[in-house]
Amino acid sequence: MATLDGLPPLREVIQRHGLDAKKALGQNFLLDLNLTQKIARSAGPLEDATVIEVGPGPGGLTRAILSLGARKLIAIERDSRCLPALAEIAEHYPGRLEVIEGDALKVDFDALAADGPIKIIANLPYNVGTQLLLNWLLPRSWPPFWDSLTLMFQKEVGLRIVARENDDHYGRLGVLAGWRTEARMVFDVPPQAFTPPPKVTSSVVHLTPRQAPLPCDVKKLETVTQAAFGQRRKMLRQSLKALGGEALLSKAGIDPVRRAETLSVEEFVTLANAL
Ligand code: SAM
Repeated sequence: MATLDGLPPLREVIQRHGLDAKKALGQNFLLDLNLTQKIARSAGPLEDATVIEVGPGPGGLTRAILSLGARKLIAIERDSRCLPALAEIAEHYPGRLEVIEGDALKVDFDALAADGPIKIIANLPYNVGTQLLLNWLLPRSWPPFWDSLTLMFQKEVGLRIVARENDDHYGRLGVLAGWRTEARMVFDVPPQAFTPPPKVTSSVVHLTPRQAPLPCDVKKLETVTQAAFGQRRKMLRQSLKALGGEALLSKAGIDPVRRAETLSVEEFVTLANAL
């Protein structure tokens, strides 16, 4: 059967290499190249871009990124069973795909980005997705090594990333993402699009770094958001008691009877700076 890129259909690739999905590795594969191209396209123009993909698996999104013209793609995959399938893609696109076998949580991304700005595109393993995002959001120095993140999450997590004040999904993730990036939901992907289908809907989220986020110490911002949202239904004078309670809130000019989810990102930054 012909495919968009002249490589064999993914179903056949999976069968030939025995890539039955492993739950422990968060494996839910996308087999429709039209869909993977739609995801890759939402990262913006890829011609001449350097891209990092986490968790290429059998290569559905990998193939889309390469077919859209990425100059160089570095793909990090933990499951060694996928390497022969990825080697076939590398052969089809000579010199453009580099595969690193390993755990993305342990990779030194700054070192990979030595040649210039990077677009990260990934259908993330659910079990490590949020931690990877936090690693990319919270380096000490800013701007970061990447110039956009185009990431698939469970919809629930996507909603938390883009949520702002007075939204039920607003929390630590929304504050941290909102502080340093412009984050938006791009589109939803239903469970049936994956093999095997996960239990929930997924969403593609796009983030770009703010060039000048409000000055703030990362650790302090994490500390105040963790305390405030740890007891999100309580008034701030109660939830922030261990950090100084009313005195801290008064220094920041924030009414102590407010609750965490009513504070804007800017107000959380003011609180962190008052710590
Ligand atoms: N990109 C493929 C697709 O869209 O069909 C596969 C996506 S699947 C949701 C997640 C992939 O991440 C799997 O291939 C899995 O083996 C890989 N993976 C899981 N944990 C990983 C980790 N810590 N580092 C790198 N890859 C990981």
